[in-house]
This record gives sequence, C-alpha cells and structure tokens, in this order.
Amino acid sequence: MTAPVRGDLGQGRLVLTAHPLQRVGAFALAALAGDGSPEETTEAEFEAALSQMARDALRAALGRDSKAPGGFWLKVSYSFFPNTAMNHPSNGKRTDAAIAERVEQWRTLPPPSGWPPTVCSLCSRQAVGYYGKSDVPLAESQSYRNTTPRGHDGMALCWPCLCSFYALPYGVRLTGGPSIALHSWDDDFLQHAVAEQVDHNRMLAATGDGSKRQTGAQEVVALVALRTHRRPMGAAVDLVVFNNNNRGQELETHALEQPLAEWLRRTQRLGDRRAGFVELVRAHASTSTPGLVALARNVFRSPGRIVAVGHGRLLGCLTRTGRDRSRAEALAVLLNSFATEVMLMTEKDLAEIARTARNVAALLNTATTGGQLRSFRTLLRDPSKLRGWLTSQGVQWTVKPPAGAEGPLVTERGFELLFSPVSQNPAWFHRDMLLVGVLQELNSLGWKPEQPEEEGEEDLDPRDLEALTFDTEDEQQ
Ligand SMILES: [Zn+2]
Repeated sequence: MTAPVRGDLGQGRLVLTAHPLQRVGAFALAALAGDGSPEETTEAEFEAALSQMARDALRAALGRDSKAPGGFWLKVSYSFFPNTAMNHPSNGKRTDAAIAERVEQWRTLPPPSGWPPTVCSLCSRQAVGYYGKSDVPLAESQSYRNTTPRGHDGMALCWPCLCSFYALPYGVRLTGGPSIALHSWDDDFLQHAVAEQVDHNRMLAATGDGSKRQTGAQEVVALVALRTHRRPMGAAVDLVVFNNNNRGQELETHALEQPLAEWLRRTQRLGDRRAGFVELVRAHASTSTPGLVALARNVFRSPGRIVAVGHGRLLGCLTRTGRDRSRAEALAVLLNSFATEVMLMTEKDLAEIARTARNVAALLNTATTGGQLRSFRTLLRDPSKLRGWLTSQGVQWTVKPPAGAEGPLVTERGFELLFSPVSQNPAWFHRDMLLVGVLQELNSLGWKPEQPEEEGEEDLDPRDLEALTFDTEDEQQ
C-alpha cells in the first residue's frame, strides 16, 4: 500500500467512541494487531493489522467464489460490505490486476486533498470522507443509527473509525445470516470476548469453512464469553444481532443486566457453584433443546423463570432412583445466590423465607410419595390456594406444635413477603424461593419416597458438555 504516513496526518491511532459497533470493531482491530486494547495499539501495530485485513480482502476477492475453500471472507463481505470492490458483481469479468487495484484503493487512506471540511461524527477528529451502507452497517435504532444527513453521501468518519468498521466482521459471531456482536461498556470484558471471537473466525477462515453455518443459539455466545472471563463484570452486556446485506438490514438488541452477567460469570469462577450450574443446565435440557441453549434464552428473555425451572431438577433429585443429595444441595445453593445477587433479596428476607421453608418441610417430611411434593409445587401457581393451605396448617401448628417448633408456621413478615402485592415486593419470586428452601431442607433431612420414581438419569447433551468443559481457576468469594 502506498498511503501517506497516517500518523503524521493524525489518522494512525484507534479510539473508542460511543458507537457500540465501532467499539467492537476497534477491539477486533486491536486483537488483530496484538494483545492490547485499542488505545494501547501503536501506529505500527495498527498499520500491520490493516495490511493483514487488506490482504484477506484481496485474496477473497480474487477467489471470486464464496463457496470455494478460502471463500470465507468473501461470503462474509456480502453481509458487511455489499457492492464494494471486494465483491462487486462486475468482478467476474475483471482481470486480477483490475480487482487488486480496486480493492487496494478501497482500503487506502484517501489523500488529504479529498477530505471533507468536517469532523468524524463518532470521535470529532478530522474526517477523511463520507461513508454509507457499503462500509458501515446501517441500523435503524436510536443508539446505533448512522447520522447521515440528507444530501450527504453517508457518515463523516476518520480513518481509524472507518477501519474499526472494516475490522467488525473479525470480532463478531458469523452465522451465514445475521451476525451477532457482544457489546459491553466494560472494556475488559469486551476485549476478552472480541479477542476470543477473532481467534475463532481466523481459524474458520483458515480451514475454509465459509460455506457452513455456525450452529447454536445466539444467546449462548454471551453465556460462554461471560463464563470464560476472569474479571468481575462492571457493566451490562448487550447482544446485538444485525445484518447489513442488500436483501434487508436488521438490528435487534437483547440486554443482560450487570448483576445477572456477574452472577453467570461466577457460576464458573467459584468452585462451589460449578456443580450447581451443571444441575441448572440439566434442569433446562429437553429432548429438543440442549440445556445451555434454553438457559441462555431464559437469561436474556425471562431471567425470572430460571429458579422455577430449577425446581423440576431439585424435585427430581429427591424423588427419582439414583438420588444424589450433593447435587440437589449444589443446585439449591446456586439458586439462593441468584436470589441475593440477581434479584437483590436481602439476607434477612431470604432467612425469613428459609425459616418458613424449614417449617413447611417439617410438615411435608411425612409425605411418602413424590406426588405429594409435586402437589405442594402446584399450590405455588395459585397464591390464594397456597395462602389458604398455609393458614389452615398454621392453625393446627399453633394448636399442636411439632416437637422442637418455635413460633408460628409463617410469621406476619413471612406472609407479607409471600403475598403482599406491593410493587417493591416480588412475592412470586419469594414463593419460588420458598419451594427451593422446602426441597433443600427435605434433602438435608434425608427425605425419600417409599417408591422411588423410575426415571433414568439423562446424560448431558454433548453440546452442553463441550461448552461446560474448559480450564478454569477459582476466584475468592
Ligand atoms: Zn473517528
């Protein structure tokens, strides 16, 4: 490339802007350049990474066939850079030299004489041109919108911000359809997640696997990135699903709040939570869907359901043949951590629910079948019935308290937590935690049915096993 010295022109350093996809691209470029963050990337490293990207683009363009081995980046380019020199329909008729010249020009800093009299719309440094859909994924969403004023050709960008978009495909999960970017304002996490993705995509490109779709639910990408990250999460995580191809642009975002993100990370990083997490994955597994996929979907769409799904597995651990008390305990401990760390229940309120649960377990400990435990679970779905049951049991409890019982079956505060409809009291969740507490207590009391239920232990789906198996080091609590 025969470009002017970009650094001398103030165009040689990456910066992070407020545009999430520019940030992802900048981290991808930094990962291609070395081990650091975008802001630590030197001008020489920046240049080397740009040359690498230009070589990839050129090789892909000269191949002219997205389905051939080596066609990976060409196929990808249709979704990111439609109608550019890299993939223009006319390339079929052009000579190699003509294509090479056009691709090189596309990826070369325009001469300063052609720069517009304006600043980059993302970072306020001198812009080097206006760029539209062929270079920057457009997206119809407030926070991701390209600020393209009427009458202009596109968005005013500086060279490093433009190159961040050229690097974007390296840093996202490519599916053959919409791409999946993980974004967070936690720079450490973003650096980790994007660097992993860059390695993965370069491996796919090198093995010529461009024609195959990557399978797996988009949400799992976030779950795996969180569980392999080694530092506490300081911000939420967004999953950005987008497409920039000619057939239709799209953009969807799903958010994962910081407390849930950090809790998920710790399910891997804390030794005493890993066993519980495996049980939670089992709880979510079905014949049609691997557990990790169903769990990842709940994480983004209905995190409040996670504990209720865990109930089934806890019950199974108690009632089935091949009971395993340590697994039930591990799952119960994990669900309790969800209550305090994600739902932000106070220790005091959780202790009140646990006290009630111990009393209820003392009553249910006389049950002889799993069916009786499941009947109690059914009560949970109808708060008025549960309340009626607790009230009538409470009367008998007062008249004839069980040996060692202290106080009422359910205190006034207990009733408030379980049933008060005021908005700051998630009574539905407290009832979910009541059942966790009852089953945890029955488990530690050694409860078992007279006739264990014959239901075989299913093995984890191989896809779950693969995603759950990686080297890890414990962190302190
Ligand atoms: Zn800029």
